[in-house]
Amino acid sequence: MEAWRRQLDAPVSAFPIAKAGPAHIATLKTFDPPLSTLDGRRLEGARRRAKRLLFPTDDGELVLLVHLMTAGRLRYLRAGEQGPKTPALQLAFEGGARLVLTEAGSKKRAGVWLLTPEAADSELAHLGPEALGLGATRLEEICADESRRLHSLLRDQRLIAGIGRAWANEILHRAQLSPYALSRDLTPEEVAGLAAAIDAELERGLELRERGANDKRTYRVHDKLGDPCYVCGTPIARVDFEEHTIYYCPDCQTGGRVLKDRRLSRLLR
Ligand SMILES: [Zn+2]
Repeated sequence: MEAWRRQLDAPVSAFPIAKAGPAHIATLKTFDPPLSTLDGRRLEGARRRAKRLLFPTDDGELVLLVHLMTAGRLRYLRAGEQGPKTPALQLAFEGGARLVLTEAGSKKRAGVWLLTPEAADSELAHLGPEALGLGATRLEEICADESRRLHSLLRDQRLIAGIGRAWANEILHRAQLSPYALSRDLTPEEVAGLAAAIDAELERGLELRERGANDKRTYRVHDKLGDPCYVCGTPIARVDFEEHTIYYCPDCQTGGRVLKDRRLSRLLR
């Protein structure tokens, strides 16, 4: 997400918006102010809060907030560049460039909100501190606050903003911690290692994304069932936990133990 933000920051502010829209009815979540309020205004650039991209107008009156979910993609098309036939959202700039949001598949889960800065702030107020640069002291407080399984704690956007299930797998592997370990059981050294792993993995991901790497090359543990662990060579294992699938190395992370399935559906049966 940060790699996208950097890519979009300069181009979206180059020209005023000539026409905002059309937008898919399921994608645009707000109707007041209408999207056309953006016509004639210039965006200040691209900002990011956790997994959301924010495009404030340079007059300080409006913020376009975009949440891509898993299948949404934002592309900046130069004048004359071929784009999708039915984007979920389009902003046409003066001079002919366009910002388009597309979403693979039929389910429209990505969302776009046109808000005042105050409404955008309250929309984002429930998010925890940014993962990148969090630091050991802050993480120690979060871990001590309530006892949570690490994979679930890392993904909880109210506690730490910006880590999804894939990066939770990568981070826990680097920190050599079990996804099921309880946050309050960590030693100060383990918390420090986890904080360092968060920064190291997110920075590694950012660098690869900026070079245009795809998921397959970016992830080393996530979605790599059976592949040799990049540290010890043990085949990567997989387990279902709540509504997520976790990938881990049984040798590096769980002392050789195979984790048990903890699907919500199984627990509820
Ligand atoms: Zn390993």
